[in-house]
Amino acid sequence: MQSALVCGAGGFIGSHLVKRLRKEGFWVRGVDLKFPEFAETEADDFIITDLREPENCRDVIDRRFDEVYQLAADMGGAGYIFTGENDASIMHNSALTNLNVLEACKNRNIRNIFYSSSACMYPEYNQTNPLAPVTREDSAYPASPDSEYGWEKLFSERLYLAYNRDFGMQTRIARYHNIFGPEGTWTGGKEKAPAALCRKVAEAKDGESIEIWGDGKQTRSFLYIDECIEGTLRLMRSGFTGPVNIGSEEMVTINKLVALIANIAGKKIAVRHVPGPQGVRGRNSHNELIHRMLNWKPNAALRSGLEKTYPWIEAQVERLRGDNALWKDITPTAPDGSSQFYQHRFDNAKWPVVDG
Ligand code: NAD
Repeated sequence: MQSALVCGAGGFIGSHLVKRLRKEGFWVRGVDLKFPEFAETEADDFIITDLREPENCRDVIDRRFDEVYQLAADMGGAGYIFTGENDASIMHNSALTNLNVLEACKNRNIRNIFYSSSACMYPEYNQTNPLAPVTREDSAYPASPDSEYGWEKLFSERLYLAYNRDFGMQTRIARYHNIFGPEGTWTGGKEKAPAALCRKVAEAKDGESIEIWGDGKQTRSFLYIDECIEGTLRLMRSGFTGPVNIGSEEMVTINKLVALIANIAGKKIAVRHVPGPQGVRGRNSHNELIHRMLNWKPNAALRSGLEKTYPWIEAQVERLRGDNALWKDITPTAPDGSSQFYQHRFDNAKWPVVDG
């Protein structure tokens, strides 16, 4: 039986990856600081541990795995990575994790390791035109990511490439572009644009308005989780190291994203634009390389992914509403001291617009 290790298996992408690997018949060990939040893990073995500690990495990598997926990272949406408040932690925590996991894999003679980099490593100067952002893989240098999160990703890409060159490890590097879907973070400050928008639309009544950061004309593409997992497995099992984009080429403005979600929800929703961190002005996946190297590229419509994601988030919102006490816990107290049921919505003007 083939075996796989998924680091970050308690997170969004990792928990979906575990399910897929189990379906394929793998014996799977998951590792994370926490269990998945929204469903029981399907891993055969799940270890709660901190991968920033080298001895913990040695303990969980105690055998040869056929495939290792390194998805553990300190990350979040724009509200987490663009405020500057978390820069040191993001760089420290994720770099240590990558250094330790790679070294432990090398010492077990594990050959196949996948690393999840991010489109956030692309230079800011190529993403100022919202209608024509450049994210060709070879446009990464001269480097100028717009966040320390992106710089850490770039450093770690180079680390995986160096272990590939120096120790003959078959590292695989993907640059994910905004992945979304059910069972992803949808509230609390680390959620990304599709989840945050689905939540805000689910919370709003028909005819109400929601707030978004910026003028809403900033562009992004969003990839549904199933295609992310498909691309990840195809890359891992190919002879291609990467780095390669795994993202959708269906670029939309954030205003368009709101309109799509509102349409799926069957509500009329107006948008109020407020100041806030937005990340780069435009970003889209460039899929020529993945198509050429893997003879495959994502092709599902954004709408089809949102049609599966919105009902899941709506159900989470309804579940919390049904549990008044729980809702109160995440609902800030109003300035007059009252804890208002709907205050949550307005304070969540601070939701992350994009990226990860
Ligand atoms: P996530 O935050 O849901 O999952 C990451 C997991 O890593 C979390 O469960 C977290 O607890 C775990 N982790 C963090 N530090 C750890 C440590 N020291 N020891 C053990 N576990 C630790 O994020 P995700 O959306 O599932 O992303 C997975 C990977 O893909 C990350 O590396 C992320 O940077 C990358 N990525 C994601 C996106 C996206 O849109 N989701 C885009 C680009 C890149």
